[in-house]
Formats: sequence, structure tokens, C-alpha cells
Amino acid sequence: MDFSKVFSAVDKHKDLILNAERHIWKNPEVGYKEWKTSAYMEKEFEKLGYKLTRAGNIPGFYADADTGKPGPKILIFGELDSLVCKDHPEANPETGAVHACGHNGQCAALLGAAAALKEEGILDGLCGSIRLCAVPAEEGVDMAYRESLRKQGIIKYYSGKIEFLYRGFFDDVDMAIMVHITTKEKGFTYTRGSVGNVKKVISFKGVAAHAGAHPYDGINALYAANLGLNAINALRETFKDEEHVRVHPIITRGGETANAIPADVTLECYVRGLSNDVIFSVNNKVNRALAGAALSMGGNVMISDRDGASPLVNDMNLMKIAEAVMKEIVDSEEDIEFIDEIRAGCTDMGDISAVMPAIHPYIGGAEGRTHGNNYYIVNPVEACVNSAKMIMGTIQLLLSNNAEKAKEVLAKKNLRYSSYEEYFKDIDRLMSDKEMLTYNEDGSVHVKA
Ligand SMILES: [Zn+2]
Ligand SMILES: [Zn+2]
Repeated sequence: MDFSKVFSAVDKHKDLILNAERHIWKNPEVGYKEWKTSAYMEKEFEKLGYKLTRAGNIPGFYADADTGKPGPKILIFGELDSLVCKDHPEANPETGAVHACGHNGQCAALLGAAAALKEEGILDGLCGSIRLCAVPAEEGVDMAYRESLRKQGIIKYYSGKIEFLYRGFFDDVDMAIMVHITTKEKGFTYTRGSVGNVKKVISFKGVAAHAGAHPYDGINALYAANLGLNAINALRETFKDEEHVRVHPIITRGGETANAIPADVTLECYVRGLSNDVIFSVNNKVNRALAGAALSMGGNVMISDRDGASPLVNDMNLMKIAEAVMKEIVDSEEDIEFIDEIRAGCTDMGDISAVMPAIHPYIGGAEGRTHGNNYYIVNPVEACVNSAKMIMGTIQLLLSNNAEKAKEVLAKKNLRYSSYEEYFKDIDRLMSDKEMLTYNEDGSVHVKA
């Protein structure tokens, strides 16, 4: 197929794409706080003539480009949020926010595709429609803020794509594409997918007392947390290599003052694994270990488990179609790398892939360590312009010839859930708030499993 028309439609908007990449890089905002980023994107979309559906009480929006003919609807994502990496030289000095995962480039590519879709004649010969979505909150940053939004009833889910799914924004969508920027010079990479996770906030409760004069009157929550970390570490030999389990806690609050026994100690943690069943079973072990640690000190532990990401399973039929377009973009086919693995990073694109055919390939153009203090997009033409070309070419291939290829992907789809309802039921079982121990008057102690 000849992609010259869609590729030159993207090239026409090269300045728009590159300006967006720079603008958003310079104005990073973390998940569910991307108000300025979203406003910038909204303004640019409206200048192109799009009618927007805004999430409203959280950042983000979507807009449709319709061919006017019935057919499949393809969802394209650009992620709005940044990370926090305080020692990155270009981090925001007040918030520490920086686009150390390159989502600024994704927004630029989304805008490029939006502009190209408005070019004269570009939808000719296609059927169906394209939903362009600027989505918030992919990175698991600042869980306390998300919890405050949850408590106010503003969100139900910590992850932006899950929240958008829950709000029904993708109810009429058939398949989804997202291109993520990665730290290689050029070309594309794709894998089979990646693991999922649950996000945890763990609060050990003790009793404060004078650390010098009356430590025996206290219950040390920091030592309980310490025992909890050791108990988790002791469990590691039970993790199966093939299930790709990762458990990685941090202490976010270790005590108030050195002259008092710490009474309130907070940890945040992820439990990652190959499937939601694996995550569920390992998470139960972790919770039991934490409860045991609290019990050994006579304290307690509150555990809040929240949605993180479902495992990503790339639809390989859809990927093959995208790969045909990648081949038209790269100088040599060696610049397309297939890694036949499940990776241990996570993305809420996994939740999209749980309910519809979806792909999440990577494009080069960045260097340094992803999420690190030396991450930069060094080749924005590769990272953003070529990304928009891949998106546009894939749309053309999917929706031309009466959407023959898109229909083939749909006919061969093999999803983990038969309905949104079944999917939400499965992820909701991971979510809970539990005080793990109940001390009874008869001296017995009840442990929640
Ligand atoms: Zn990231
Ligand atoms: Zn990312």
C-alpha cells in the first residue's frame, strides 16, 4: 500500500508537532494534575476544528474523526502525565516533575495525527472512525493525591485509562493503538506485552511513647514495618521465575521525631505479576506477612490495595499490520526489533488490551535511563513525527478496503474478558481497605487473610 499521502499529511504539520513536544516538556505535570497540559492540547485540537468531549472533573479529553461511513472505531492514545525525578536537571524546581518517560512526545504525535486527519481527502477511501484520546495518570505518582480524589468521589481508579474505561469513554471503540517512546536511537521495538500490578499503601500502627524515658510504654511501628519488609524478603523464594513477580516497597513516612517511639509508619508498594491471578495470590501472601509483622509487635497494620495495571497482551494480528507500516518508515528492517518476552514494566494500556485488541509498540528517539535523571528526547522527528506517521499509516491500512484488515483483527481477537463487567469485577477484587488484625477480649487475635 502507498502511504505517501498520509506521511506527507503528517510532514505538513512537523512544526506543530515539534512545538508541542517542547512546550509540554517545559510544563510537566503529574497524573490527574495535568490541567495545563490538557488545556494546551484542547486548544490545539479546537484550532483544528475538533469537537471535544472533556473528562471535566479530571484532565483529559477525546475527539473523533469520522469518515461518515460505518465501520470499526480505532482508539489512539497520547498520555498527558509526567514523572517526578527531582535531580533531573530540567525538572520543575518546585514540583520535581519532568517528562522522564517521554509522554510529552506522545501528546505531540497525537496532535500530529489529529492535524493530519483533517487534511483534505485524507479520509477518502476509509470507513469507520478514529477516536483520539489525551489520557491522564499513567504513571503511579503521588498515590496520596489520587486517594484524596477517590475519597471525594472524583475518581474511582488511580489509573487514567481504567478511569476513562469506567466512565464509558471507550464503550463504542473496537481496538486501540499507543506508541511509546523508548531510549534507542531510532526504529521500533515491540514485545509480547508486560506484567500487571496492584498498588498498595501500608500503614503500620503502634503507640508513641518517650523513646528515652518510657520506651516500654510504646509499640514501635517502624520496627513492625522493618519486620514486614524482612518477611516480604523471606517470601521471595516462593515467587516463580515464570510468573515475573516483583514486590518493591518504599517507606514514605518513618516516624515523627527521634525522641518518640514511631506510632505511624507508612509504606507504598507495588506487587507485579504475569496475571491478575498471580498478583492476587502474591498480594495475599504479602498482606499476611505484613499482618504477622504487626502482630509480633502487638501493633496493627492498615492495608489499602488499589488498581495499578492489568498485564499488557499485545494483539499480534494488529501488531503485524502496524509492522507493515513501520517497515515503510525505517531505513532498514533491522531497525524493527521484536523481543519475544513479557516485560516487567507496567502500563494501564494493559487494561485496554484486556477488553479490546490493542498494541503498545515503542519508537526510538530518546536517550538516558527511562524514569532517570538523564532522560531526554534527543530526536523528536523520530520520536514524534515518525510516531504520528506510524499511527496514520496503521489507520489507513486498517480502515481502507472496507476496513477488511480491521475486521480481520476483530474476527481473530482473543480477549481475557467477555465483557467490561467481567473485567471490572476481576480488577475490583484486588481493591480493598483492611485493618489486618482484631485483638479480642479473650486474648485471641483475628487475622484477615
Ligand atoms: Zn513510565
Ligand atoms: Zn511511559
